[in-house]
Amino acid sequence: MSFPLVRHRRLRQSVGIRNMVRETVLHVNDLVQPIFVAYGEGVHNEISSMPGVYHFSLDTLKPEVDEIVALGIPAVLLFGIPETKDSIGSSAFAEDGIVQEATRLIKQWYPDLLVIADTCLCEFTDHGHCGMVHTFERDGQMHGDVINDASLELLVQTAVSQAKAGADIIAPSNMMDGFVQAIRIGLDDAGFEHVPIMSYAVKYASAFYGPFREAADSAPQFGDRKTYQMDPANAREALREAESDVLEGADMLMVKPALAYMDIMRTIKDQFDLPLVAYNVSGEYSMVKAAAMQGWINEKAIVQEMLTGMKRAGADIIITYFAKDAARWLQER
Ligand SMILES: [Zn+2]
Repeated sequence: MSFPLVRHRRLRQSVGIRNMVRETVLHVNDLVQPIFVAYGEGVHNEISSMPGVYHFSLDTLKPEVDEIVALGIPAVLLFGIPETKDSIGSSAFAEDGIVQEATRLIKQWYPDLLVIADTCLCEFTDHGHCGMVHTFERDGQMHGDVINDASLELLVQTAVSQAKAGADIIAPSNMMDGFVQAIRIGLDDAGFEHVPIMSYAVKYASAFYGPFREAADSAPQFGDRKTYQMDPANAREALREAESDVLEGADMLMVKPALAYMDIMRTIKDQFDLPLVAYNVSGEYSMVKAAAMQGWINEKAIVQEMLTGMKRAGADIIITYFAKDAARWLQER
């Protein structure tokens, strides 16, 4: 059968029919709102490259969390801006670290709001890399190698301290080999065998992270992250990365960034049966914001289309700086 017996427009002719046959529907339960917590007092600073996204100190954080909860968003993802940085990122795993303190506060205010702790070192190291670095000078320039296995021990300490503070989910993002296994064993040994790991399984060395590095003050001071984050050109490598994490005990798999990697999301979704997380990253956010501020695009329509596209590509969970906006628009609907 074909035209004129077949007419695709029959199922598009009214709102009622379109609603009935819609295949993908965004839900507030899909959303995670990232939050940047900074040391200090009275901090409520907008990040210049991410309009609408702020640094909060612990004493200004409550209204933001109140709003997130009121909108029905089920989870937040915490990043920390510490007072001091050093070569091993020791404030990442300090008991009174900024992420640990924020976690305790949020869980005290809202025990049911899920706190996801980003587990990495780059916000806490003075060199801005995600692990321990062996530095050397060559041709008058600083260079460094990120040391895999020694970094794992620091990551485990960080994850355990975050779980102790009350984090519901540990989200390791540093792309060291074996990081999921090391953290799983570390959490289990510390009595946190019930705490799931949301692994940044497939994380590309992406230019889309640019605004985040201002937000988290985590730009590498030398070199880049290409020896541990993935080459944007590679898809089969994503399968190998994801498979390792599955075998090491990951409970959820993430693909980061999202927009330029929808094919990777679909591939991972089809290949593995763990929940899939998409990270709609800072550069994706800032591009939309910048164009919307110029009046060049319809922000609401674009954001809803992007997030729906990510879900259609396989995402069960979407981490996005638009979470509050999206939740508000969903309420209007
Ligand atoms: Zn990192």
